[in-house]
Amino acid sequence: MAVTGSVRVRLAPSPTGTLHIGTARTAVFNWLFARHHGGSFLLRIEDTDRERSRPEYTANILEGLHWLGLDWDGEPVIQSERIEAHRAAIAQLLASGHAYRCYANEAELTAMRELQQAQNRAPRYDNRHRDLSPEQEGAFLAEGREAVVRFRIDDGAVISWQDLVRGEMRWAGSDLGGDMVIARRAPADQIGDPLYNLVVVVDDAAMAISHVIRGEDHIANTAKQLLLYTALGHTPPVFAHTPLILNQEGKKLSKRDGVTSISDFQAMGYSAEALVNYMTLLGWSPPEGMGERFSLEQAAAVFDFGRVNRAGARFDWDKLNWLNGQVLHGLDPESLRQQLLPLWAARGWGSAGPGAEADWQRQLCALLAPSLTLLADGVEQALPFFTRPEPDAAALAQLASDGVRPALATLLALLPEGGETLSAEQAQALLGQAASQAGVKKGVLMKSLRAALLGSLQGPDLVTTWRLLHPSGEDRLRLQSSSTVP
Ligand code: GLU
Repeated sequence: MAVTGSVRVRLAPSPTGTLHIGTARTAVFNWLFARHHGGSFLLRIEDTDRERSRPEYTANILEGLHWLGLDWDGEPVIQSERIEAHRAAIAQLLASGHAYRCYANEAELTAMRELQQAQNRAPRYDNRHRDLSPEQEGAFLAEGREAVVRFRIDDGAVISWQDLVRGEMRWAGSDLGGDMVIARRAPADQIGDPLYNLVVVVDDAAMAISHVIRGEDHIANTAKQLLLYTALGHTPPVFAHTPLILNQEGKKLSKRDGVTSISDFQAMGYSAEALVNYMTLLGWSPPEGMGERFSLEQAAAVFDFGRVNRAGARFDWDKLNWLNGQVLHGLDPESLRQQLLPLWAARGWGSAGPGAEADWQRQLCALLAPSLTLLADGVEQALPFFTRPEPDAAALAQLASDGVRPALATLLALLPEGGETLSAEQAQALLGQAASQAGVKKGVLMKSLRAALLGSLQGPDLVTTWRLLHPSGEDRLRLQSSSTVP
């Protein structure tokens, strides 16, 4: 479907929890669509659920979007500040006869549902107060009953729309659960708190939203909302329902799956760049030749709903990890250093004494970058550079092998005095010389040096590691303890 007119989309998160990956992915698709069409991406905080909404969740959502690079246009609209407009729309629907007051109390509604259940019928409101006579209404008022406001849903209505993802959609009015509550219970001369479907329509119309892009769990709401658009005399937006994010079992990803908040991913050490790249791939296939690694701007240049799948998108940790590694491997040493400094500082590393020099830290970052998957790996793997490691079993076995201790002592004796950095050639030459003097293979000496320096047989390039540890004399200390400890 061709996009005509100016594009205005919105993200409408409810601040009843931290920024969820599903909401963030919806934000990504909205952002990409807006930027692709040179339109606006607006934000509306849907805080009308007073009991569950919290300012700290709003802060978390805004921070998360900002961290991901999903900048929005203008100030966020705060839904609760628009309650008078919502009430006015309800009054309009009451006046036009599209809505009415329903006095049924909880006990009556429960009895109605129990009867439906006993008869094996789907639970729905049976529209019992749709056409009360003035006398009946008067009797309820005399009893002091309160009322909700319900919007009439014609059972015979067929609601259809052209969905940007799912194509032609049709919904029967009879499948919408009967006349819908649009305002909570209140004394009958007032209008109670307006409810979700009503306020969304009023706000989307007021914000002149051209396209509503949201998860497919909102499809039934869309059917209801289309009826409200018509009743209120507004032109509805175009809808795009994006596929759900699924867990490994193919079920909707939920809190039970562990990490689902953007702030959790951030705390785990994922980069914003990798995470938005990954979220873009959750349901959207890039055009041929683009590959899977791209920036938001690159995706925005080619984004369209024709490439959004209808099927749910399975969350794939391996792919996210791979993308995160790609981002980290591509960072220049200074950028990586800037990202690692706070994590190192949290361990008390890198601000004073050996290891505090920026140039040394950049060299360390260049050494570690190719083996990082998560930023946090840059803490784990930097550990032997900032603290003396406990040798693991394999390293201890290596250090206990025949001839290793004397060979390390030989190397130690050959080390030049003074804190000058060893050149790579110098380091190689020293290794050759020590190996031949001690009568061991150079490979054996290198493995032993690694065990002595890192306390492990695994790790980054040995010569670079050694050179980094040399200026502070840390290599001498480690060689000494390894070559003398029985
Ligand atoms: N507040 C709703 C939600 O978070 C918004 C849905 C919509 O985009 O209309 O699910």
